[in-house]
Amino acid sequence: MADKFEFQTEVNDLLNLMIHSLYSNKEIFLRELISNASDALDKLNYLSLTDEAYKSLNYTPRIDISVNKEAKTLTISDNGIGMNKDELIANLGTIARSGTKGFMQNLSGDAKKDSSLIGQFGVGFYSAFMVANKIEVVSKKALSDEVNKWTSDAKSYEISNSTKESHGTSITLYLNDEEFADTWKLEGIIKKYSNHIPYAIFMDKEEYVAPSGDEKEGKYETKNVQINKASALWRMNKASIKTQEYNDFYKQISHDSTDPLLHIHTKAEGKIEYSTLFYVPGSEPFDLFRVDYQSGVKLYVKRVFITDDAKELLPPFLRFIRGVIDVEDLPLNVSREILQENAIMRSVKEQSVKKILSELAKLKEKDREKYIKFYTFFGKVLKEALYGFGNDKEAVLDLVLFKSSKRDGLISLKEYKEGMKEDQKSIYYISGNSENMLRNSPLLESFKKNDIEVLIMDEEIDTIVMPMTNEFDKIPMKSISHADIDDEIKSEENSVDESKLTNTLVKMREILKDDVKDVKLSSRLSDSVAVLIYDKNDPDFAMQMMLKQMGQNDLPKVKPILEINPNHEIFTKLETNELMINDISRLLLDMAKINEGMNIEDPAQFSKILTKIMTKAI
Ligand code: ADP
Ligand code: MG
Repeated sequence: MADKFEFQTEVNDLLNLMIHSLYSNKEIFLRELISNASDALDKLNYLSLTDEAYKSLNYTPRIDISVNKEAKTLTISDNGIGMNKDELIANLGTIARSGTKGFMQNLSGDAKKDSSLIGQFGVGFYSAFMVANKIEVVSKKALSDEVNKWTSDAKSYEISNSTKESHGTSITLYLNDEEFADTWKLEGIIKKYSNHIPYAIFMDKEEYVAPSGDEKEGKYETKNVQINKASALWRMNKASIKTQEYNDFYKQISHDSTDPLLHIHTKAEGKIEYSTLFYVPGSEPFDLFRVDYQSGVKLYVKRVFITDDAKELLPPFLRFIRGVIDVEDLPLNVSREILQENAIMRSVKEQSVKKILSELAKLKEKDREKYIKFYTFFGKVLKEALYGFGNDKEAVLDLVLFKSSKRDGLISLKEYKEGMKEDQKSIYYISGNSENMLRNSPLLESFKKNDIEVLIMDEEIDTIVMPMTNEFDKIPMKSISHADIDDEIKSEENSVDESKLTNTLVKMREILKDDVKDVKLSSRLSDSVAVLIYDKNDPDFAMQMMLKQMGQNDLPKVKPILEINPNHEIFTKLETNELMINDISRLLLDMAKINEGMNIEDPAQFSKILTKIMTKAI
């Protein structure tokens, strides 16, 4: 008796796509099925090492691939954990895991684009329907006698009783065409994607046997042979590993189809013994900026897979890293709490972060082009390390790049420092959301005039982390939209002499007292009339916007300071003729706001005053 089931709607959508739209790179279905088999073996391996009940199981973990050319079927079997009926329904009838979910969420509806997406995601079990019109899954859960057969033609599925000797899962694909019934072809795909899964994959293969004794000719014999290396790549000797192997392993663990930018392979043999193999991806993981991003690092203890779901293995600002951490001296049944508090793990994490950051620093010096590529993908994430006062702040400051008011492209803080003027005391930057607006800001005028470089920080994260970054290599870092840099950029030419404009200042302060903290003479303007700056400890406009965006609506009103250009003829005239000082003060404030990309509070009033002045001017 078979029970009939309908697929969850999302699965139906996914299956439709698999069958009708995705034509390229079909071969990855094998990687997905082998990776599932390997996961199932990992799970059982772990239980047999940690759980009394499973210790009596006597089995050698393996994966078997077999083909039946006449029937056009391909079978992938493992003797792993297996699935019971409920699990078959939950795992092969719905979409639960984020890999497949993420894929679904990123679909564009454009078949071409979507099929290139498939490489970037673990689209899992269902990808087998790209090559098969019917699939049978026979599974027996370890320690259970019940065997179930799941059968589907991609429209609905059935589950019935079945028979099977060993625990584990056997998946048979009824292939659409012969392409994937060819053992040579299969061998190539297995070597490409699954060479370094920790378990042996066996397949029947025709092999040439050389003539022996009095035989004249050799002959072909079918033999059951191991196809993959089945070695933990990260435990092998660096010198024996080719770049190609590193790259293939990356693709296997990351489900990414592009080569990684960098691999970092470390074997520590000191007080704490561990191996790590980290990769910097060559493309952006789809969930990089999602709160529920998946960890890309797998934890092993003495080669036994423990978890791929432990975000605490590396800090969030390195969440783009993919790879493996394998530690010697931990118990196999490490819990989440242990992961967080264990001194060994803490030390491995610290060392790993150091190593990754120092390798990135090396890359920056050695291969700028590649580094820029890395930085374009992950610079924003990396900058999160500058939040607060973490240990890695200094190392990360060495790695960040910024645009500059004087040079093209991106420069490092070290490069900025090297280009500083002899008497320059600080590193200057301006931050906000629009590069264009920043480059044209009146605040830059005196810096340009004095040939002082200013870093243009136009990423949102800059606005958050830079106010928390006070210095680089002992040099203070200062935002030019704040008030405390006045002294440093004062020059003879734009020295400010308050006595010449006392009258104007007093009046303007009174007129604008509800809107600004102060009205001051500026030393930073040469052409513009006026500019808004902020008190040393006040958030600037970009920061205020940021906080608002993050949902902080109860911020106290931050009053800016209005700086006016003492050399501008408007003010010299105003000093002796204050007839219009009311209107002009309002207008100046609104203009300064517009320059900064702010909204003006009373546009009607602004237009009215402007009209009045235009009328007069004519
Ligand atoms: P993912 O591997 O990302 O979880 P898949 O679609 O590849 O997504 O697989 C769905 C689920 O089906 C797996 O999480 C696992 O629980 C189950 N599964 C698939 N293949 C096997 C197998 N060979 N043995 C045991 N469970 C399996
Ligand atoms: Mg899978």
